[in-house]
Amino acid sequence: MPDDLDKSALGGLHVQDTARGGTGAGGSFLPVCRPALPEAAALLPWLSRIDAARHYTNRGPLVRALETRLAQALGLAPHALRTASTGTSAIEIAILAAAGPARAERPFALIPAYTFAATALAAERAGYRPIFCDVDPVTWGMDFAAAARHPEIDRIGLFLPVACFGRLPDLAGAETLSARTGIPVVYDAAASFEAQMDHPGHVSQTVPVTLSFHATKTYSTAEGGAVLWDSAEGAEALTRAANFGFNFSRRSESAGTNAKLSEIHAAVGHAMLDSFAQRRADYAARVADWAGVAAALPGGMVMPPDLASVYILWDAPDEAMHLAATEALTAARIDSRRWYETGLHRMPHFADGQVLPVTERLGTRLLGLPMAHDLPRAEMERVVRIILDAIG
Ligand SMILES: *Cc1c(COP(=O)(O)O)cnc(C)c1O
Repeated sequence: MPDDLDKSALGGLHVQDTARGGTGAGGSFLPVCRPALPEAAALLPWLSRIDAARHYTNRGPLVRALETRLAQALGLAPHALRTASTGTSAIEIAILAAAGPARAERPFALIPAYTFAATALAAERAGYRPIFCDVDPVTWGMDFAAAARHPEIDRIGLFLPVACFGRLPDLAGAETLSARTGIPVVYDAAASFEAQMDHPGHVSQTVPVTLSFHATKTYSTAEGGAVLWDSAEGAEALTRAANFGFNFSRRSESAGTNAKLSEIHAAVGHAMLDSFAQRRADYAARVADWAGVAAALPGGMVMPPDLASVYILWDAPDEAMHLAATEALTAARIDSRRWYETGLHRMPHFADGQVLPVTERLGTRLLGLPMAHDLPRAEMERVVRIILDAIG
């Protein structure tokens, strides 16, 4: 792929940059993702509880209550959900709790290349060296049968599959992979909160699943995350790993970090949950609008409910159209996004020289288009018109 595509229109914007959303004074910039978290008035009752309790972090009352509410919303037992300070730290503590830090004889974590950088960075924080595999052309996730036969299987200490764009994690496949190889699996399902909600009780006793509550995700605490794992010992191990490896003392007893959600972020999470049914209804209406408007585009659309509500992906017929569309949108001050670029194996920090055709094809064809729970249909129509003009 030509270098200019790598640097094209995305303007070096990182996914997190859009969390700021804003259209800018007087500008008409249309962000690819424009989050709306609970407003101050909705936060106030929850924040006032913090004033009264004077408990700000370290699994305070709002965090514990949020875990109970979230577990209930996902149809899980109370022990089966533990919060974390970010989606990335949720992956990190799940690795420490389920697999432990990397050992010299098994230094590798096998990771699908088509994911957000956080997946591999979390593995590195736990001491693993990421190695990348191509993804399945249908699920866009790890091919479990191929993973079990990986040439480096004797040096792999962790499998880190990803549920792409908020799809439901394939727990049966992951459990089989773990049982067959004896190697722990942690599942990054960062954007899958809605899929989990729509499949109550979808949880494993052996494979922890991680969620992100970043502002760009559908359900958010601004920054935050969670681990879903139906294991009482797992819950204790996660709590330890998130709190310096402490176990009812100030002595580090196992590998750990600081991955604790604060009471302030938990307050945001409570307020968000209070109105989440309305938020989902708003998104459903926007998804219906997008489906109608995007029918005019050649290629295909990959959209909710197959994906999380924040992702509207145009599957361009070819790379040239993808590039032409991206450039035209940028010229019109409309943000678009190759969410996972062309794969982690091509990013400077992780580059390994591999050619992974499915990942690279997805990366050069799928284009994330603007979405928000209140995006006007006229804006969707403008986006589609500009793309159609650009690809002639
Ligand atoms: C959002 C996301 C993350 C990171 O979550 P943060 O909360 O931003 O740390 C990790 N993996 C995937 C696939 C994501 O989409």
